[in-house]
Amino acid sequence: MKIICFGRNYAEHAREFDNQVPDFPIFFLKPDTSIITRNRPFFYPDFSQDIHYETELVIRINRLGKHIDPGFAHRYYQELTVGIDFTARDLQKKCKQNGWPWEIAKGFEGSAPLGRFIDKSQFEDIQQIAFGLEINGETVQSGNTREMIFSFDHLIAYVSRYFTLKTGDLLFTGTPAGVGPVQIEDRLRAYVEDQVLLDFRVK
Ligand code: ZN
Repeated sequence: MKIICFGRNYAEHAREFDNQVPDFPIFFLKPDTSIITRNRPFFYPDFSQDIHYETELVIRINRLGKHIDPGFAHRYYQELTVGIDFTARDLQKKCKQNGWPWEIAKGFEGSAPLGRFIDKSQFEDIQQIAFGLEINGETVQSGNTREMIFSFDHLIAYVSRYFTLKTGDLLFTGTPAGVGPVQIEDRLRAYVEDQVLLDFRVK
């Protein structure tokens, strides 16, 4: 199982980092050991002083596919949830400055808390879904899939040109503006429309 994470897929977020809006999707991988499920706590790692949340919709691939046509991409996933792409921003900065690979800043243990999956059929339009994150009761991020630069179907088609997609693979589809740091004892609640799908603490 692989976790594919797309960067800069919401223009506002790309601008907060002075990044250019890309004309093709950009992605990286996390290992399966980064996943946290069932609202288990995230343990703040000792190698970073600047862990940031990035709230993202996550889709789960439900069949094998390669070179998927964008017109058929919707058949390759049925469920979605919200997840956090935790990022060690201090390590990432160092990696970027030195031109090193980013994995330690993005793929560390527990860096991918995942909410409960729900069926996409409950949404009239998959590209009009509101989602967001509250920390300690305060909304810190909110987005809508209509603001995505590349749609779910486009992301699936694009990545499948390079990697065969397999059942169970997860796609983190990018974060809207408003990313920021977490602290030990914070409580994070992430929602899709009016459903809280992820609710956990930082320890
Ligand atoms: Zn991200």
